[in-house]
Amino acid sequence: MASDSTKQVDLVCLGELLIDFVATATGPLRSAPGFVRAAGGAPANVAVAAARLGLKTAFLGAVGRDEFGQFLRATLESNGVDVSGLVHPPRGRTPLAFVSLKENADRDFLFYWHETADHCMGVADLHLGLVRSCRVFHFGSISLIHPSMRAVTQAALAAARDTGEVFITCDPNVRLNLWHSSVEARGTILGILTWAHLVKLNEEELEFLTGKADLKRGLQALAQFTKAAVLVTQGPRGAAYCWGNVEGEAPGFSVAAVDSTGAGDGFMAGFLCRMLETQGELRQLQPDAQTLREWVLYANAVGALATTKRGAIPAFPTPSEAAALLQGTSHLGLSEPSRGGDTKAG
Ligand code: ADP
Repeated sequence: MASDSTKQVDLVCLGELLIDFVATATGPLRSAPGFVRAAGGAPANVAVAAARLGLKTAFLGAVGRDEFGQFLRATLESNGVDVSGLVHPPRGRTPLAFVSLKENADRDFLFYWHETADHCMGVADLHLGLVRSCRVFHFGSISLIHPSMRAVTQAALAAARDTGEVFITCDPNVRLNLWHSSVEARGTILGILTWAHLVKLNEEELEFLTGKADLKRGLQALAQFTKAAVLVTQGPRGAAYCWGNVEGEAPGFSVAAVDSTGAGDGFMAGFLCRMLETQGELRQLQPDAQTLREWVLYANAVGALATTKRGAIPAFPTPSEAAALLQGTSHLGLSEPSRGGDTKAG
């Protein structure tokens, strides 16, 4: 749909890929009656969500040579993601997360992530050809925590930057319980944002990084660290955006949400899908107010649909499902955005 024929891959996502064991009932982990296995990891989710929307995507990362690693490889492959850059180092198991679901469709994580395969990935394992030949390179912050994966991420970022063309996007996706300290997390993430041309984060992450609860102040504070365009997701309310001198808010869609896992990843994929319909030099892109609002509305529709089924991957919509929600013909939600939104240039 949005492919540029001169490039082999539209979107390369680098980062974590793990097994989510999702509780089968709402409530704390200690009372979970059982768990269902699912593929997890935000950058991998973005690759799958974007592939479902029609983009050519690839994933870079590492999982174990164990059964779970094979399951994850097969899952990405069967969802249309190029896994030629997914490596299985001789040491290290596939990371695991146990996920509890809360009443409000939100979730909590308990990670088993020590001496795992991704911590054994080295720069030599990196498929630089994919990084150099894609249109968009996307990464998060979990791959910045362990020194070896951080070196891999930095090498990929340098390769993407040095092409002079590849558009770099980042979703910090803050998981504080994986970091040694919140100070280290904040400093590392703010440091890496200078590499990005577009940053997507949720309201809580904006407040964590900038110390500002107010959206406008948060965006101003973030601008001291990065010149990137910024998308701030606001759960069911939709998302705010700021790209050059165009800023505004686009309302969310009312759906029957059952599990918010993957909402932000779906949002990111939806946005990139629309953005990649633009031909030409992405780094020079300055969408006008109406175009940017349309992209964010589409992203909101994809994010909303991602909440309507348990798990991320099963819930990511096809282009026709996203179009149906936007046009008001979906059986999953109402056509009308859940609140009015303003778009203004200035
Ligand atoms: P994250 O998953 O990264 O915390 P959000 O919860 O803000 O991000 O969700 C990302 C996007 O998904 C939102 O901007 C919104 O468009 C959509 N979304 C999330 N939750 C809902 C919901 N309950 N109903 C409708 N849309 C939602």
